[in-house]
Amino acid sequence: MPRIIIDMDEVLADNYPAFHRAAAAQLGRPLAPEEYRGKKLYELPGLEKVRDILYEKGHFRNLPVIEGAVEVVKELYDNYEVFIVTTATEFRYSFLDKYEWLEEHFPFIHYDRIVFCGDKSIVRGDFMIDDKVKNLAGFNGTGLLFTASHNLADQTYHRVNNWQEVRDYFAQERRSRMARIA
Ligand SMILES: [Mg+2]
Repeated sequence: MPRIIIDMDEVLADNYPAFHRAAAAQLGRPLAPEEYRGKKLYELPGLEKVRDILYEKGHFRNLPVIEGAVEVVKELYDNYEVFIVTTATEFRYSFLDKYEWLEEHFPFIHYDRIVFCGDKSIVRGDFMIDDKVKNLAGFNGTGLLFTASHNLADQTYHRVNNWQEVRDYFAQERRSRMARIA
């Protein structure tokens, strides 16, 4: 079975509601998504400190799941060798938070298939689904860029805008692979 590497933040888990709360507290008003179009929210002048919430205990434990992720990852898990690979070492409290979050929302994922890492370029596989161009650039297989505000300008990778598009992509992948075998 082909191996798919799946990222967590901004692919399975949505950090942006928490970023918006922190930004609103800093600014004293709500922030609109158009204000950080093309970049990360915390790259805006005056909002650099918003990123500090990533270092807080409990942050990664309470994130909402991105729509469609559970259903589609389950389908992929049954048809591919799926690994969840996430950058964790920068954030010491993220390990347990991310582990428990996966256990709650993706209970079908075996612990053998979860990789907490620093630099993702050590990872090998056939497909990688990630919102960071840098991670796809260091990957040996086919990169699928999961749309996020900060990657809207990128034209280099095959873009998937949501989990339905991921489902469609891999349904097609399976069809063409089966046709080659037959
Ligand atoms: Mg990510």
